Amino acid sequence: MYNLGDTSFRNQPKFMKESLIPHIIHRVENYLKQHPQEVFTFTFHGGEPLLIDKSFFGKFIRQAETLKELFPETTFEYNVQTNGVLIDDDWAAVLKAYKIFPGVSLDGTKKAHDMYRKDHKENGSYDDVIRGLKLLKRKLGFVSVISVMNLDESAEVTYQHLTDISSDYVNFLLPDYTHDSFPYQPKEMGKWLISLYDLWIQDKNRPIIPFFNGLTNAILGSQKIARHEAHALVIETNGDIEAIDSLKGCGENFTKTSLNVVNNDFEEIMQSPLGKLYFQDSMEKLCTKCLECPVASVCRGGRLVHRHKKENGFNNPSVYCEDMILLISHIQNTMMKLVPSMYDDSISKMDANEIIDYLNTLNFDSIENVYKQDLEFFSEV
Ligand code: SF4
Repeated sequence: MYNLGDTSFRNQPKFMKESLIPHIIHRVENYLKQHPQEVFTFTFHGGEPLLIDKSFFGKFIRQAETLKELFPETTFEYNVQTNGVLIDDDWAAVLKAYKIFPGVSLDGTKKAHDMYRKDHKENGSYDDVIRGLKLLKRKLGFVSVISVMNLDESAEVTYQHLTDISSDYVNFLLPDYTHDSFPYQPKEMGKWLISLYDLWIQDKNRPIIPFFNGLTNAILGSQKIARHEAHALVIETNGDIEAIDSLKGCGENFTKTSLNVVNNDFEEIMQSPLGKLYFQDSMEKLCTKCLECPVASVCRGGRLVHRHKKENGFNNPSVYCEDMILLISHIQNTMMKLVPSMYDDSISKMDANEIIDYLNTLNFDSIENVYKQDLEFFSEV
């Protein structure tokens, strides 16, 4: 992940000490006693998690596995999000031993990827990542890619590339911008996404793309609505407990709490305004435009970071608002064409421009929003 303008990572130790592992497991135990889960996932993130000694994974997982006896109804999973550069035979063996299928960051083609992902000598890391991915495909039989969408490369070239490298799973992410940093024109990303979606839906051997799967499920009314990010809690290398990294884009130290796994339970983050909004209220406490929006049940206002503006905190629609209206309408209309039996005659095609025009005619100042104060609590002015 790019550092998003928050430099507080410089004050963190490079690696997590093994002495923190029992504290983390203890906090997970306390959490699961209060909130039983079918699946609980530990994700090794970073920085770059493969920089740590390989034995750390074994020590962590062995201690985490003790939770199985306490919570036999819960499946514990392990995940790694890596830049892929350090993957070698030894790492592949470690990952295989612990049944970890890592997500590897690859932002499309060599041109798109090397634009942002460079080493200390300013060399792009694309070639090393591709070498790592090929190794994983050979050793684990599965390639999972995490890809930040990049409008500097066409959707056609991006999709072809992901097909060429035999990706089984592509976790496409919208770039994390706030209203103070957003560089695109309205609808620019939406048109790119529609091109990508059309290629994907027509591909008989299409990979899993959770971004599209989640939206499709939400449109079809499935309970498996895209969960956004509101289930991930971050533990920094020094044991500090924080909300998700993407919110670092909202400002320096934005995600900091005074909580640490040595002294605090995970639950305690809910006592902070950001923890409560992020974990509990992010899909309900929305700005007036989102509350009035005809596609809100699918979009849910977008990710929190995409709603932020220094001037009024989270009291905004997503920076990708019109893009999402375009895309959601397009997916709905495509589904109506592909599986007409799922729709009755009373449902007509969606017109994205009509929705955008409708929302633009509303006078939001005249509509009371009970969440205004809570959302604007996070403004900086
Ligand atoms: S499409 Fe726009 S207005 Fe509608 S919920 Fe999403 S961000 Fe809000």
